[in-house]
Amino acid sequence: MSTTSDHPTPGPQARAPWNHALVIGLGRSGLAAVDLLVGLGVRVRGYDARESIEGLPVDLSTFLGMPQPPDAAFEGIDLLVLSPGVPPQEIRRRAERLAPSAAIHGELSLAMHLVCFGGQPQWPAVPTVLVTGTNGKSTVTALTGALLQADGRHPFVGGNLGVPLCERLLETLRGAQWIDSLVLECSSYQLETLPPVPTDVAMIINVTPDHLDRYASMEEYARTKARIFGGLGATGLALLDADDEWTDRLAPPEGSGQPSEIPTGAWVARVGDPKTAVVEDDGAAQQLVLYQAEKYPRSSLRIAGGHNARNALFALLAARHLGVSAEACQRGLERFEGLPHRMVRVRELDGVVYYDDSKATNVTSALAGLRGLERPFVLIAGGLSKGDDLTPLREVLARQGRGLVAVGKAAEEFAAMAEGVVPVVRAGLMDDAVPKARALAKHGEAVVLAPACASFDQYKSYAQRGEMFTAAVLGLE
Ligand code: ADP
Repeated sequence: MSTTSDHPTPGPQARAPWNHALVIGLGRSGLAAVDLLVGLGVRVRGYDARESIEGLPVDLSTFLGMPQPPDAAFEGIDLLVLSPGVPPQEIRRRAERLAPSAAIHGELSLAMHLVCFGGQPQWPAVPTVLVTGTNGKSTVTALTGALLQADGRHPFVGGNLGVPLCERLLETLRGAQWIDSLVLECSSYQLETLPPVPTDVAMIINVTPDHLDRYASMEEYARTKARIFGGLGATGLALLDADDEWTDRLAPPEGSGQPSEIPTGAWVARVGDPKTAVVEDDGAAQQLVLYQAEKYPRSSLRIAGGHNARNALFALLAARHLGVSAEACQRGLERFEGLPHRMVRVRELDGVVYYDDSKATNVTSALAGLRGLERPFVLIAGGLSKGDDLTPLREVLARQGRGLVAVGKAAEEFAAMAEGVVPVVRAGLMDDAVPKARALAKHGEAVVLAPACASFDQYKSYAQRGEMFTAAVLGLE
């Protein structure tokens, strides 16, 4: 086992409201929670199904290499921390039996609990934006962060994306400066344990089928997402999509008599409602319009597609609610280059433009990227299927597709979907798929990697899949 004990110890004021913790799952976020808790003087035990893990603190008692943590691991704990990858039901049942009074957190909710309710002087509360949705979370989170930065602020931008918040808290304990705002991407898993933390803006960008292996129904998935609104106060702002079928069910219009997930008093705004925020065509050009008054040219936005214009409306409303000036928002929009592997234009060759949308890991996100394309396209799709209905993909292929290169475990399912609609070829890895796609595409068309599937059948991650696509495209002669 390696050690982390050479770090300076935190100041005397650092304490935690717990004494004995069990952390289940020792990946990056689990280890971040372990390190922070150890730094706060908590006695920590860690469990992971893997047999050996690097970077464990010396004073961590571990239970490694077993299919389940043993009963002894739960003995005397007052805190249980669950990693997002761990299906929670069974562990929660055991915790109820073996340590009924233990608080249950994920890494993000643990960090937020400490910031908001821990009474720690080194982490004073700061303006907070919480972002969830089936698709678009990372883009909206990063763009909101960019708008705050353009205003000269120093936000922490992360959560489900990038650096775990616990890591940032530990840095502060060790002397780094604290931030002045929080913009947090929250997955539905993270929301399962998030307490109602004081929040200035909370949003659900959209709700479409995903992760239905974890939730009993769409209703349960949507209601889990709605936990994001729990901490909005009287000056808080809830943002939802006016056209999403779940919006009315989660936040029924005032006076409807239906129960709402939004706390009483908070403002509710619907993106896509002209009174709140829309993309408007004034004949000459498109504008992003807030509250029927404030306009930003759509052309300032460097990320393409209607879905990204919508994402920008969410980010703009959040930043303006936090007091960012319109001028700073304009600068932030212009600077934001987008995130890797989300409809990134890789190259144009022989009049064909190549796009990397490897992050499109479900049908809805693949469709969002494809619908924003003005060119006919050859699609590279497939991978580890999520069991989504592929009919909508068949429809876009019929309208605008020129061919399908089917890859991965789901290749046959995708080939069957496109049968009789466009020419279909099968391919192995990206260095095989890209030349086959090129052969199908003509001048004026596009080749798009939008797999509509997870990547784990052939790659380590969607990022690796996108990098291999990019390398293959850049290698074309
Ligand atoms: P998330 O963090 O929720 O996975 P990302 O911002 O990483 O979202 O985008 C993931 C994928 O979803 C990308 O392929 C992108 O094209 C698509 N996407 C982004 N925003 C939206 C949206 N508002 N609606 C539908 N799809 C979107």
